Amino acid sequence: MMRAATTTTVPTRRVRVAIVGAGFSGIAMALALERAGHLDDAVIIDAADEFGGTWRDNTYPGAACDVPSHLYSLRDEEYDWPQFYSGQGAIQDYILDVVARHDLRRHARLGTGVSRQEWDDATATWTLTLEDGEEIEAEVVVNGLGPLRRQVLPSIPGRERFEGPAFHSSEWDPDVDVTGKRVGIIGTGASAIQIVPAVADQVAHLTVFQRTPSWVLPRVERTFSPAERWLLRTVPGAQRAVRTTVNLIVEHVVYRILALDERAQRRAIALGTKNIERSIRDPELRRAVTPSLTPGCKRIMFSNSYYAALDQPHVDLDTTGIAEITPTGVVLGDGTAIDLDVLVYSTGFDPHHFWYPMDIVGQGGVKLQDHWAEAGTAYMGTTTPRFPNLFFLLGPNTGTGHNSVVLMAEAQADYVMGALEYLRSGAAAWLAPTDAATEAYAEEMARRHEDLVWASGCGSWYLNESGVNDTIYPGPVRDFQRRLARFDVEAYDTGVR
Ligand code: NAP
Repeated sequence: MMRAATTTTVPTRRVRVAIVGAGFSGIAMALALERAGHLDDAVIIDAADEFGGTWRDNTYPGAACDVPSHLYSLRDEEYDWPQFYSGQGAIQDYILDVVARHDLRRHARLGTGVSRQEWDDATATWTLTLEDGEEIEAEVVVNGLGPLRRQVLPSIPGRERFEGPAFHSSEWDPDVDVTGKRVGIIGTGASAIQIVPAVADQVAHLTVFQRTPSWVLPRVERTFSPAERWLLRTVPGAQRAVRTTVNLIVEHVVYRILALDERAQRRAIALGTKNIERSIRDPELRRAVTPSLTPGCKRIMFSNSYYAALDQPHVDLDTTGIAEITPTGVVLGDGTAIDLDVLVYSTGFDPHHFWYPMDIVGQGGVKLQDHWAEAGTAYMGTTTPRFPNLFFLLGPNTGTGHNSVVLMAEAQADYVMGALEYLRSGAAAWLAPTDAATEAYAEEMARRHEDLVWASGCGSWYLNESGVNDTIYPGPVRDFQRRLARFDVEAYDTGVR
């Protein structure tokens, strides 16, 4: 006997603004809406059941931010930071504190991801389909998805055969105790150099698989004294002064490394070399970790403990390369077998398809993955033709190799507010950047990149498969902030319902 199908009607909710992503950029957008008195018209959606984005997810041992906390924070949201550089826990506490201060949970729809965003020209509305089947209609969508959410796992043969715990750095399994275990870590990027010193003292044996050494500079660690914390908490402007000073240093000193200033490059090499020499006694290991690439070409990293952790009898740095992963470990290119109990893939992310596997469908049914097939091209890193009223925070060409991405997201949130004000004036129901403005902007990005370190010849996650840098903004952050300070409607096509 056939049973009659039952249909459940899921109510469609309508909002003015849907923010997708509850990490730093989604929160920056929510706060910008709140300042303008429009947060009640918005919903913040996230697949996870907590705010925090990358700082909620990356809980690997040693996870921390190498941008000083007073700069790696939201502009008007001061905090009693315990340290100059903060660990994941302190940053996540900060995020949750900001969420509580502004009662952002009241506007949140957590625990269900968005699987589809589709534009309808007739109604000038986006329909967001959630993974649980609910639909939300929105006049405007702001995607703050985070560029580093799609993990890259190495395509080494045999990966699925490994019988012990194996996971990507961003999915660290808290139930796996590495104490007394033989652990392998593939990769030596920003995540790995934090994991290695954090676990080296617990494990029985650690093998770090390095493909390309990259520059690791020393940094000024500082736990604020009670008196310093009191001053920073109570003296008006003290936190702003620290933030401004750090910002000036990274913009005017660190940025020069990326701009290939010869003196800055020489200084970076000298600092990196000194960091190796003061931490590693073994000449062979010193040679193995010394990079040949131009500083900044792969992300400059900062650590005072990574190299020293490598220079221990129970820690090996392998540079031969893994030929195969077996049920019990790995086999190197020269045939050597290494037995492992736990395998960690600290092999990075794919920022070029940050919205995958979500379907984003714009005017005329065009899909974002086809629209951006060659490279992500967003006008001001924020909007793209044929996707009206759709905004990306930390979208294409908005990363920085020297400063805080929170500043970039905040500049974009202000820009979005300019667009919303225009729409609110009733002058149009939708807006999307013109092809001409977007192409000119993309050409400018490419032209400016020619003079910067990422074009100096090394491969990095900043470049897509065609070698196009569609991740980093090719200039100082202040330049990006300046150009986004005004919403330039003249660069936009507009339409009515
Ligand atoms: P990553 O910097 O992309 O590093 C990935 C590492 O894995 C590289 O050393 C890479 O070697 C290696 N690798 C990839 N595939 C491999 C393979 N098949 N065999 C051997 N090695 C392989 O990734 P990440 O460390 O996760 O960092 C990503 C980004 O997250 C950083 O650049 C940074 O923006 C952010 N992050 C920031 C902080 C912070 O303190 N603010 C901390 C962690 C992460 P190759 O170089 O040879 O490709």
